[in-house]
Amino acid sequence: MTTQLSRRSLLALGAGLGASIGASTMLGSTALAKAPKLNTQTPYWHRFVVGDAEVTVVSDGPLPLGDPSGTFTGVPKEEVKKMLVDNFMNPDSVVLEQNSPVVNIGDKLVLFDTGMGTSKMFGPTTGQQQKNLAASGINASDIDAVVCTHAHIDHIGGLVGADDKPLFPNAQVYISQADYDFWIDEGKLGSPLKDFVLHARKNLLPVKDRLVFVKDGQEFLPGIQALAAPGHTVGHTIFMVTSKGKSFAFLGDLTHHSVLLMEKPRMEFSYDTDPKQSAATRVRLLDMLAANKIPVMAYHFAWPGYGHVAKAGEGFRYYPEPMNMQL
Ligand SMILES: [Zn+2]
Repeated sequence: MTTQLSRRSLLALGAGLGASIGASTMLGSTALAKAPKLNTQTPYWHRFVVGDAEVTVVSDGPLPLGDPSGTFTGVPKEEVKKMLVDNFMNPDSVVLEQNSPVVNIGDKLVLFDTGMGTSKMFGPTTGQQQKNLAASGINASDIDAVVCTHAHIDHIGGLVGADDKPLFPNAQVYISQADYDFWIDEGKLGSPLKDFVLHARKNLLPVKDRLVFVKDGQEFLPGIQALAAPGHTVGHTIFMVTSKGKSFAFLGDLTHHSVLLMEKPRMEFSYDTDPKQSAATRVRLLDMLAANKIPVMAYHFAWPGYGHVAKAGEGFRYYPEPMNMQL
């Protein structure tokens, strides 16, 4: 037997509710709110285990992109909106998360990407990484390595504080040389990329002496391998983390959206340096991850951004992993 809630019965339910509220108010009942609303949220960090490695995801906070029409391109605007509506998402406003894994592996504590830092280019909700890292019990001074997927502001913005001093005083910083060279280039200060270049210079130059350039295919830290994923930026790199035979891939900005760039992975993203190359890289690497059933952490997917990808139709589908609260 199926249960059907008709519009008429919903209305009746509403009327009943209204009547009972009215009655209790008249009687002076305090049944509606005995305690004050708390206006607090669950922690913005989450912990799980991969093989022998302990992974703590920390957030830098939500990054609002606004209307998706100007950002997700290469398909008609109406189609983008319909995809969002069909997935019960707001068609007029896309908000990205910023999920950074901190991996305790071997004798190293490794942070991937650093959020927006002090920049408010995307509004006031970003810049939470240090606070959430501390809340998770991790000292910034205990981080041995900061691994950056690329040199965009929302990934390197938290390398230094407002005083331009490194926020991870004992860490070496890993990034591709191609991205470093491209984004610190003063010659681009007169171009539309100006703000990105300014922030790359602000964050990368103070740690110049601690930089290590990662190469495609290289296992540059025990259990951590670089895989070149160019297109979003010239040197954009994703990372495979492996412990005791278990792996996950940190995707950085291989894909910014769990529906739009997965169902239609050849859709373009306006912040890509080379959108066509970015799309080709996305399809190639998601194909590989899906075929090998390797879990992924996507920096910009809904919190905490951990799950699987599988092939579906012309593209892919993202399956978020349930948050397991037992370690
Ligand atoms: Zn990003």
